[in-house]
Amino acid sequence: MTLDFYSPEQELFLPLFKEKQIRVFVKRDDLIHPFISGNKWRKLKYALIDAKRNGQDTIVTFGGAWSNHLLATACAGATFGFETFGFVRGDRVSNPVLAMCKLYGMELEFVSRTEYKHKENLFLQRFEHSNKTLFIDEGGYGPQGMKGCSEIIAELKQNYDHIFCAAGTGTTLAGLAKGIADHQLDGTLLHGIPVLKGGEFIEEEMKNLNAPISQLILHTAYHFGGYAKTSPELFHFIQEFVSKTGIMIEPVYTGKLFYALQDLVQKDTFLADEKILILHTGGLTGFLGMYEQFV
Ligand SMILES: *Cc1c(COP(=O)(O)O)cnc(C)c1O
Repeated sequence: MTLDFYSPEQELFLPLFKEKQIRVFVKRDDLIHPFISGNKWRKLKYALIDAKRNGQDTIVTFGGAWSNHLLATACAGATFGFETFGFVRGDRVSNPVLAMCKLYGMELEFVSRTEYKHKENLFLQRFEHSNKTLFIDEGGYGPQGMKGCSEIIAELKQNYDHIFCAAGTGTTLAGLAKGIADHQLDGTLLHGIPVLKGGEFIEEEMKNLNAPISQLILHTAYHFGGYAKTSPELFHFIQEFVSKTGIMIEPVYTGKLFYALQDLVQKDTFLADEKILILHTGGLTGFLGMYEQFV
């Protein structure tokens, strides 16, 4: 099972970076695939390899109505020959993301927020008798997801003083932390930007995955009020950034990430000549959910 992909490190030439004498590179995981978005492919990879090996033919997973992970799973299932089933949190709705999930053949079931809290129960109730069915947690959280994301570090063409990444479940950040430790990159600091309020919990989630956290800094003040919460300032930043760089970012994850980097650069957090890598994790759906802000 292979999906060859292209994720270069591309330098960003913006006047602010020049003024502060730093160099900023973007790892373009958003280019991996249009719908198996960025880190979602990396998080699914080892789960799918194991599923094939174990003769499983169906993947069951979970997400909100705008979930990048649901769409990535639907698309990966169609690509690699799995049936897919998604439990969707909340009342029945229709939107472009769920329509694309269906297009890729995913069966969807809407469940109340209370039911959704008990994911294992939902899974067992419906698929109890099928050992051909694989459970994947919301957002692709888990050790296999972390392993897939740790490979990002092995791909890098040069060393960086700082690596930046957005965090939802913390799986991608955990993978980066593991990769940094595995490659003994003692001079690299890992910066996480939680997109949820109270982002300190990311550290716990990383510890649960046995990820090292000694080189980690969490910047917990860039959530803009919480998950998928925004502000006119954030929309303005995204509009400026996309129109000046040609690189698409969105309001849920990468918009907050790039905003945080810009803010920290403006506050002189970095030394002259330092090299920074920012991981673009993809994520078209965050834009689709809020496109009206940009028309
Ligand atoms: C899901 C997602 C994340 C969050 O990744 P975690 O591993 O859950 O922290 C970040 N960026 C984008 C674009 C995503 O879709």
